Amino acid sequence: MIGIDDKGFYGKFGGAYIPEMLHPNIEELKQNYVAIIEDKAFQSQFDNLLTDYVGRPTPLYLASRLSEKYKAKIYLKREDLCHTGAHKVNNTIGQILLAQKLGKKRIIAETGAGQHGVATATVCALMGMDCTIYMGEVDIARQRPNVERMKILGAKVIPASSGSKTLKDATNEAMRQWINDPVDTHYIIGSVVGPDPYPEMVAKFQSVISKEIKIQLKEKEGRENPDMVIACVGGGSNAAGAFYHYYNEPDVRLIAVEAAGLGIHSGKSAATTALGKMGILHGSKTLLMQTEDGQVVEPHSISAGLDYPGIGPIHAHLFDIGRAEFVGVEDKHAMEAGIELSKLEGIIPAIESAHALYALNQIEYKPDDIIVINLSGRGDKDLETYIKWGKY
Ligand SMILES: *Cc1c(COP(=O)(O)O)cnc(C)c1O
Repeated sequence: MIGIDDKGFYGKFGGAYIPEMLHPNIEELKQNYVAIIEDKAFQSQFDNLLTDYVGRPTPLYLASRLSEKYKAKIYLKREDLCHTGAHKVNNTIGQILLAQKLGKKRIIAETGAGQHGVATATVCALMGMDCTIYMGEVDIARQRPNVERMKILGAKVIPASSGSKTLKDATNEAMRQWINDPVDTHYIIGSVVGPDPYPEMVAKFQSVISKEIKIQLKEKEGRENPDMVIACVGGGSNAAGAFYHYYNEPDVRLIAVEAAGLGIHSGKSAATTALGKMGILHGSKTLLMQTEDGQVVEPHSISAGLDYPGIGPIHAHLFDIGRAEFVGVEDKHAMEAGIELSKLEGIIPAIESAHALYALNQIEYKPDDIIVINLSGRGDKDLETYIKWGKY
């Protein structure tokens, strides 16, 4: 069985490698989160918000023109239709409800491109909670619209000015702030990364994706299992959600798509499983892009959501045991796939999701295979990148 053990490990990966000062926070979460989220009242509150606020269930759409082109039956799981434009809000809704049950007054979060910051600021507005978002100075400068969105929603955006002034520095800063105010603050991590219990907790909140796929595919095809599920991986939360109810169904191939940037061996990529070695990042043991002496390597991807030097421990484990197939898709190919989907189906995808789409060109499958691609987000936020790319 694939899953987490009682020490917080998926095989060799996971755990909680944290400073002593954070132990009480992590321990409080660990002791309480399962009981809270399995409680009936919590579940009905979570389900109601997913339905009426997020707009779930998201459709499972048979993309006929795309299917015709690739000669397979391709379904798109439309996470792009979630409120705020991506899957991230499934997790922030779950965590804000949890924070309330734990009696917390303030929320903090890190963000890279600003998508998780916006999803967090959104649920804080919804619940009337104080919200502070840490964001690298470089990212603040290049993601202006999302910075303003967070402010409109009532959040404070605090620049992280250490290191490369990007996502990993914002994460370090959020962790430092959490240590300063452990009693009243909950830290909402945005992917299946961080110390145990975050990876499994976030995966559980995102698992609604594969729960719905099973029901929807049963209605449309008379079976719950597709031949293959494809999802892009930054930290890995949309992929974990899309894979969750299929981990232990060996007839379903799981395809995880990483950003190969300018090429896996170009020195400018975020292809963690291809390049990474075991290390510790943001509190968990996982695969990580690092130099010989263990310094984190700066990643590169055209899509901000995949621009991360690590990968969630569950994905490191799926890679290690060969349960998921990992594919690296380059910037230029992702852009091509994004434009292709726009023209074939009238859907402009997030560039992260476009990586998953292009994987159709890099994997083998049989003509009548049923393939589900998790369309993690919409392309509105990426319009500038599409315009700069220009080849449409
Ligand atoms: C943030 C983001 C991702 C990457 O995050 P995961 O945790 O790997 O899912 C992928 N797609 C979109 C649209 C995003 O906003």
